[in-house]
Amino acid sequence: MSEPKLIVRNLSKIYEDTNGAVTAIEDVNLEVKESEFAMIVGPSGCGKTTLINMIGGLVKPTSGQVILDGKEVEGPGPDRGMVFQGYSLFPWLSVQKNVEFGLKMKKVPAEQRTKKAAEYIKLVGLEGFENALPKQLSGGMKQRVAIARTLANEPSMLLMDEPFGALDAQTRVVMQELLANISKQTKTTILFITHDIDEAVLLGDRIYVMSRRPGKIRDVIKTKLPDIRNHDCLVMPEFLETKKQIMDMLWQESNDAAMDR
Ligand code: ADP
Repeated sequence: MSEPKLIVRNLSKIYEDTNGAVTAIEDVNLEVKESEFAMIVGPSGCGKTTLINMIGGLVKPTSGQVILDGKEVEGPGPDRGMVFQGYSLFPWLSVQKNVEFGLKMKKVPAEQRTKKAAEYIKLVGLEGFENALPKQLSGGMKQRVAIARTLANEPSMLLMDEPFGALDAQTRVVMQELLANISKQTKTTILFITHDIDEAVLLGDRIYVMSRRPGKIRDVIKTKLPDIRNHDCLVMPEFLETKKQIMDMLWQESNDAAMDR
């Protein structure tokens, strides 16, 4: 059997600041296989952003290792495409130019760049908006551009930190369906963090449930949903069963936290 694409081994992070030391995550172990859609769900403040930023190479671990494609991560790199809640688009560039940006940096010739950008703009359903500026787009559309731009760079995997957190409930489901579709079509390996249980169950092939801070992996759940994920899944018995299982775990976590006070 081949090695998992991403291996997180005994990862811990202690932040030191003027108020003292904060252990954000402690001894986290997880794996993501090639083409897998892995979710991390946990309460706010449990260390999810810290964890994904360490995988992205943006935060240095206190101890432990992140291994991607057999190589230890030592900083940010183009092999990891990151999508955040904020859209981080260039406001003065059109949709087309935003999507082409990374390719231009890599000195991909103009003709090839245009072709590739068009491919990804189509994939995220933004055909016809190539010349629009970010300010002319809704939140969901901006996030589509951010996803297209990240995918156009053809990273080895996508790291997503609450990318739909700022969207209204309906747009959020539309974006979740779109991403589920893209992941099936492109077979992109995805690690996605969220505090939203519905989102975790709807999208994940495998769901890592984190404990409260200091965050640890409390449980790993394999979803039993069909391959095609869409809003119909939200009322399936398998969906509700997994949702209840995670709700109980997170309820237990907050109950324990209350008892500690
Ligand atoms: P989540 O994404 O699950 O909400 P975070 O990773 O943002 O959690 O934060 C985990 C804990 O680490 C929190 O208690 C937070 O206050 C603390 N923390 C995060 N970043 C820093 C930092 N740069 N310096 C000090 N403490 C931090």
